[in-house]
Amino acid sequence: MSSENLLKKVEQIWEKYSVLTEDPKARAWFDDSYKGKRQTNYRAVDFLMEEIVHTGICSSCTACVVICPWDVFTYSENHPETTRTDRCTDCGLCVQVFPEMPLPADPRENVFGSSKAKTDDFGFYLDIFLSRSKIPEVRARAQDGGTATALLLYGMEKGLIKGVVVGDVSKENPGMPTHKLATTKDALLSSSGSRYVCSPNMLAIEEAFSKDISPTAAVGVPCQVDGLRYIQHGGVYRPISERYRNNVALTIGLFCSEAIVYEGIADLAKQLGIEIDDNVLQHKGQSHHKNKGQRVRVSSKKDFRKYVRPDCEFCKDYSAELADVGFGG
Ligand SMILES: Cc1cc2nc3c(=O)[nH]c(=O)nc-3n(C[C@H](O)[C@H](O)[C@H](O)COP(=O)(O)OP(=O)(O)OC[C@H]3O[C@@H](n4cnc5c(N)ncnc54)[C@H](O)[C@@H]3O)c2cc1C
Repeated sequence: MSSENLLKKVEQIWEKYSVLTEDPKARAWFDDSYKGKRQTNYRAVDFLMEEIVHTGICSSCTACVVICPWDVFTYSENHPETTRTDRCTDCGLCVQVFPEMPLPADPRENVFGSSKAKTDDFGFYLDIFLSRSKIPEVRARAQDGGTATALLLYGMEKGLIKGVVVGDVSKENPGMPTHKLATTKDALLSSSGSRYVCSPNMLAIEEAFSKDISPTAAVGVPCQVDGLRYIQHGGVYRPISERYRNNVALTIGLFCSEAIVYEGIADLAKQLGIEIDDNVLQHKGQSHHKNKGQRVRVSSKKDFRKYVRPDCEFCKDYSAELADVGFGG
């Protein structure tokens, strides 16, 4: 998608946004697009694809893909696709776990329970700490202080967790975000550091289930954490919720102001005349691309904004407030 088209898409999304907001116009849009049409043959999955995936509202958290009991979705090219719609029974779960939807149960109450969480601009939290890892090999590759990786390594070494669901990039196509189930120290270390793209991490939780690896920890940006928490604590479908609650023991959130759209990475690399590798780094609005030791800088924040994922433009969760621990630089 070209940068211009991306900007147009963002405008379109703003027009429709948002399902959860109190704005009566948005509510009317939701009622009309979803509830109204549900009286006819319009299925939940049609709404999901037409209004969320194809419009660019989808954050690629993959909650819909993993919750579908009939395996209707395939995840491809950074988006869910409905390749087996004939199997769909219109149960509506895929729409319910879209992280902007109103839920039967408030996951905040279920995650924080009766604890005395504080609330301010960071959202809900119990306490805030400054930290960094003391382990040199962790610090050498980690994005900030390496506390996220150090904590996960500790959990693995003590046998508290057997695997970690992390983000990575495809070996064949280094700009393409992917998921990874890390079960060794080396695998965890090699995927540390931030890639400013949205990876379908929840697919790795399914991989852990299929390999009987439990308990696991899951790492993700707020939309990924929200998708997971919606499944675990949103009161949507008990058998699946329990499975996710019983097997995913720790949720690590990464603070996030935005991620880059995949097409944006390719466009950015082309403009800079460099190859895409797994080191597309963005920091405080300026973008750097480390390429064989070189560092290239995109001139301005405005230049960079056109590569931001449309769904990030209206995300309301910066600190991954539903995670057990949230990390930011
Ligand atoms: C898209 C994105 C946007 C961010 N925006 C901000 C921001 O605006 N402000 C801020 O303070 N911090 C932001 N962060 C978080 C920050 O970059 C660090 O991840 C965080 O401070 C933890 O640092 P660390 O050294 O402890 O992590 P590390 O020890 O390096 O561990 C990072 C972990 O995150 C996983 N990971 C990396 N990329 C992804 C991804 N795309 N999706 C899921 N998991 C991933 C790695 O596999 C690793 O397990 C962002 C991170 C991402 C991925």
